[in-house]
Amino acid sequence: MTRPVFGAGRIARRIFTPEDDAEIVRLAASGASVRAICMALSAGRRGVAARLAHLGVTVTTRASYAFTAKEDADILARLAAGDSASAIARDLGVGHQTILGRTASLELGRAGRPARLRRPCLRCRVPFASDGPGNRLCRRCVDYAAEQSGCLL
Ligand SMILES: [Zn+2]
Repeated sequence: MTRPVFGAGRIARRIFTPEDDAEIVRLAASGASVRAICMALSAGRRGVAARLAHLGVTVTTRASYAFTAKEDADILARLAAGDSASAIARDLGVGHQTILGRTASLELGRAGRPARLRRPCLRCRVPFASDGPGNRLCRRCVDYAAEQSGCLL
């Protein structure tokens, strides 16, 4: 396999200087994501990924954050109370997506089915036993909505 030739009439590729390399290593060590490194260096994702591999640096994202049983219980209780995933993420010092991913796996019970969880109804805000993430209206509001749409069950 031949090595790509830089600047051979094609789109200029980002050339990483020793300072760039040092910055990549520093950012990766501080827990920055590949995306964050790309933005910091104004470089493309492929270029940065290749550079990380070349430098032998592994980017560890916060997605590998290990939740304790107490944090899991907290997350579920706060979601049930109507707190947003962003607020919980902020308090735990993890990413928003990490909370969403954790919530999804927590709500899948051992049988692989969403656990019944008390959630606030999207319409009247009263907590009710929800069948899963897709069930966000309490029985009364579902009946009300059906009646309003002229759909009599
Ligand atoms: Zn309701």
